[in-house]
Amino acid sequence: MILAVASGKGGTGKTTVSVTLARMLGSAVLLLDCDVEEPNDHLFLKGLTTGEEIVTVPIPQVDRSRCDGCGECARFCEYHAIASFGSTPLVFPEMCHGCGGCAKVCPQKAIREIDWRIGVVETVRADNITLIQGRLDVGMTMAPPVICKVKARLQEGLPAILDTPPGTSCPVIAAIRGADFVVLVTEPTPFGLHDLRLAVGMVRELGIPFGIVVNRVGIGDDRVHAYCNEEDISVLLEIPDDRRIAEAYSRGEMIVESLPEYRGLFLTLVERAMNLTTGKGH
Ligand code: SF4
Ligand code: SF4
Repeated sequence: MILAVASGKGGTGKTTVSVTLARMLGSAVLLLDCDVEEPNDHLFLKGLTTGEEIVTVPIPQVDRSRCDGCGECARFCEYHAIASFGSTPLVFPEMCHGCGGCAKVCPQKAIREIDWRIGVVETVRADNITLIQGRLDVGMTMAPPVICKVKARLQEGLPAILDTPPGTSCPVIAAIRGADFVVLVTEPTPFGLHDLRLAVGMVRELGIPFGIVVNRVGIGDDRVHAYCNEEDISVLLEIPDDRRIAEAYSRGEMIVESLPEYRGLFLTLVERAMNLTTGKGH
C-alpha cells in the first residue's frame, strides 16, 4: 500500500498527518519525505541517520577545442540553460533539466555530460518507521529528480506513506504518481477550499482514489464540508482547532504521543484509508 499525503497549499498539517499515520500503522513502514525543498518529517522522529546518497543530474560540458560557436545548442535549449554568443557557449547548471538534447544536436560533437550535484537522499531509522528523506541543495530548483530517487526506495510488500510537496505543480505530480490512495489535507477556510479544488482536480486527473482530512475544524466556515458533500468526496477525519496541537508541533512532538486522546482519531484515519485503498468502502 502506498498512501500519499498532499495539500493544495503549505501549512495545512500535511507533515503532522504523514508522520502520525506512519507511527499509528504500528508495523514496519516507509515514510518518504518528498517535500524536498523543505523536508521536516525528521523533526518529529528521534532516530539515527543510517545512510546518505548524493543525487546528481547530467549537465553539458563543452569541449572548447571542438566547438565552433555555431549556437545550435543554445537554440535547441528551451530552458535557456546554455547560451552562445558566437563563441564557446556558457552553461547555467541551475537551469539545466538534464535532457541531453544539446549534446545530441551539436554538429561538432563538442558536448559531453558530467554529473552535477543537486541534493541528497538520507535514511533515518526510528522504531517502526524508516524515513527516506530527499533534500535539495540550497539554490537548486530541480525537485523531481530528487523525488524520483526517494521513491526508488519503495519496497514491494512494505507499506509506505509519501509526504508530498504542497501545491499542484510538477514536483507534486512526480511524488503522487503511482500512489494507491491520496489523503488531501485542508483547512475549512476560503483559501483552503480554493486550493483543495485545485488538488482534487489534480488527483482526479491522475485517476487515484482519495479522501480529505479537514484540519483545524472550528476556524473558518462550512464551505469545505459543503463542497465535499456536493462532490461526493469522503471526509476521512476532522482534526479540531486545538491550541495544544500547535504547541506540540512547535516542540517537535507527535500529537498522538503528547496528546494520547487523539490516538483513536488517527487510528480511524488509518482504518478508513486502508479500507478505501483496498476497495472495502468506509
Ligand atoms: S541538457 Fe537539456 S536542459 Fe540542459 S542545457 Fe542541454 S538542452 Fe538545455
Ligand atoms: S552546438 Fe556544439 S559547436 Fe555549436 S556552439 Fe554548441 S557546443 Fe559549440
